[in-house]
Amino acid sequence: MTQDRKKKEKEWVEFECPDCDAHNPWSDGFTLGDVVVCMFCGTPFLVKRDGEENFRLVRD
Ligand SMILES: [Zn+2]
Repeated sequence: MTQDRKKKEKEWVEFECPDCDAHNPWSDGFTLGDVVVCMFCGTPFLVKRDGEENFRLVRD
């Protein structure tokens, strides 16, 4: 497996809010360790690794 993926700065451009299930496009992109804020309920979430390619959101 190549390690190149890890150099990519922003890995995802959208997320689903764990609190209110709203779909949030995030045009600036986000990656592990970033904090994203749901545009609907205003809850901030920390981006954590979940598996090799996925992320999960933990209430910040
Ligand atoms: Zn929400």
